[in-house]
Formats: sequence, structure tokens, C-alpha cells
Amino acid sequence: MLEAQWNYPTAITVAEHCSDKLAQYCQEAGISAPLMVTDPILADSKMVRNALGACRLSGLAIQLFSGVQGNPTGQNIETGIRHYLEGQHDGIIAFGGGSSIDAAKAIALAANQSLSLWEFEDKGNNWKKADTDVIAPIIAVPTTAGTGSEVGRAAVITDEEHQVKKIIFHPKIMPVHVLLDPTLTTALPQPLTAATGMDALSHNLEAFCSPSYHPMAEAISLEAMRMIMHYLPVAYLDGDNIQARTHMLVASTMGATAFQKGLGAMHAIAHSLGAVYNHHHGLLNAILMPYVLAANQPKINEKMGRLGRYLALTQPNFDGVMKWILTLRQELNIPHTLADIGIDSQQAQRIGEMAASDAAASGNPVPFTATQYTDIFNRAVDGTLTN
Ligand SMILES: [Zn+2]
Repeated sequence: MLEAQWNYPTAITVAEHCSDKLAQYCQEAGISAPLMVTDPILADSKMVRNALGACRLSGLAIQLFSGVQGNPTGQNIETGIRHYLEGQHDGIIAFGGGSSIDAAKAIALAANQSLSLWEFEDKGNNWKKADTDVIAPIIAVPTTAGTGSEVGRAAVITDEEHQVKKIIFHPKIMPVHVLLDPTLTTALPQPLTAATGMDALSHNLEAFCSPSYHPMAEAISLEAMRMIMHYLPVAYLDGDNIQARTHMLVASTMGATAFQKGLGAMHAIAHSLGAVYNHHHGLLNAILMPYVLAANQPKINEKMGRLGRYLALTQPNFDGVMKWILTLRQELNIPHTLADIGIDSQQAQRIGEMAASDAAASGNPVPFTATQYTDIFNRAVDGTLTN
């Protein structure tokens, strides 16, 4: 059995059933009245009922807020803040997938500030406007292995009014304790295992390709990609495989640790598409991945060689990595084109402009223009991978 306690990049407990001790970890973090933030589907699940029951038995004044939708909105955060303040809570349990964890982080940041949530958009030094003393401590319990939001210092929230996804950032919204319990992810259906797993891969791959100098992040991303190569297909085919589920949870946290180095064009386009079409973020990244790699090829040949050698691919170069990714997508039944999930080219120009101005675009190895982003998007709609 894989068990570990790490303190980098925050306190992380990895063990089967470690979430059973949630109440104890709350108490250790000085939280006596936590607000548990989750989505409406998980709210009805046995795992949430069990966690609530155990916390109440331990004397915690815990309450549930389950009004988080996929791609959480500013409205979701406002409602959550109301619950947090009315319940006089002193900390947050982020329980669920990336949407729940992102929403929990945004609530923790903005609940007690005099400024509104959007004032903390990840631009310049906006985060310095926050009063750090009143940011609520968070314990994160991910139930998917993909976003790695549990070790991130940012939250992606949709501004409904302007139909854009905004990145909210503050170093203090990194959860104080993360519980990686693989038993919480065994029930994840195959399509979600695939989409979230490919999101984890896209974080590591984009971080690895990003040209900024960050050798620590680069090393983390390489090993995480090796783990994903071996264990994502296993987790997909055999959901109850605890070892595969554990490795995927850890690879997912590694991805979010690594992408402090930067993300890239997959995320720039996926963020834009997510705001306009509301598709699953991981699925969008999975579909976009080969098209973005192809567009980046002139700048990533050397790195793809290094990645190919580390993964021990028979063809340790760009073509070999591309082949591996296309095969992996097939094994996971990921559609090859955006058209396959109902996205057409009608809004291509707008998507191109949104992607070029997305925060993730700055990490891409090639600084694409809006027109180039439109071209990549159109190729992903049509399935045009080669010139
Ligand atoms: Zn992502």
C-alpha cells in the first residue's frame, strides 16, 4: 500500500481512507466550524454524508454548501460567501473535483474582504490588495485526479456577465492540508477518469514545454508524465485499482505544482472554449493537445526528445511523443476533433482573440497571435493535424 506524508508544496497526506480522519485534520488546522464546499451531485453521495457525519460526531459545527456548478461562476461564489458568513464559519473543506475546490478557494479569499472577488484577478499585483489575515484556511479533499487545484494558488471562476473565465490568485489560498485518498476516486466513471487524467497530463506537458527557467518544476512534470503514461490507462480500465488511482492523484498534484512554471496554448484555448461552450475542461485539453503540440513543434523538438527518452519511447522524438499521445487518446476514447463534441467554427475569430489574451497564453513556447490561435482552433474542429 502506498502511504506518505509530505510537506511540499503544502502538507499532503497520501493514504487509502485518510479522508476518514477529516475531523482530526480540521482540529489540527484550528478549524472548529468548517463550511464544506461541494457540488450538488456529490452532496447526495455516501462519501459526503459519511464525512459530514464523522465531523459532527467529533463536535465540529460543520455545514454544507453544495451550490457549485461545473465551471463555477461569480454567482456561485457570492452564494457561498453568504453561507460562510451567515454560518460564522472559521475554515473551509474543499471536497470534490476542480470546480468545488476552485470555488472553495475563491470563497476563502473573498468572504471577509472589503473588495469584490474580481478585484483579485491574476493581473499585476492585484493579490496584494487582499487582507491576508482574514483569508480562511482550507483543507482540500479531491475526488478526481486532474486539476490539481488542491495544491494551486489560483481559482478559475467564470464571470457570467462578460462570458470569460477569470483566474483569481492569492498565495494564501493554497490549502493548509491536502488529503489524497484514492478510495474517493474509485467510483469515478470512465469518461471523467479519462478527461481529468488528460487534464493532469496537459498541466505537466505544458509546464514542461513552457520556456521559463524552473528546473524543479520541469523535473516534477517529467516524472508525473511517466506515472500518467503507466497508470492512466490502468485507472481507466480498472477503476478499483487503488495503486493506479493513487498514482493518478499524486500525478495530478504534481501537475499543478509544476505549472507554476507556466501553462500554454492548450489551456488558453480550453479556457476560452470553457467560457463559451461549458464543456469539461479536461476533455477540451485532451482534444486540443495534439493540435497545440503540432503548432509548437519548431520550438519544442529538443524537449520532446528529452521527454521521449525519459518515457523510454521506441521513437524518442517529437513524432514518438505525438504517437504516444494519439494512442493514449484512443485508448481513453477521447474524440479526435472539437466537431465530435458539437463545437463548430462559427466563433473561431472570437475564440482566437480570447485565447491570445488568456493568462495561460504567456507560458506557451510560441507567442501565437489571435489569428494563429484561430487557426489552431479551426484545425482542432476539423481534425487537421498535418499541413
Ligand atoms: Zn487544466
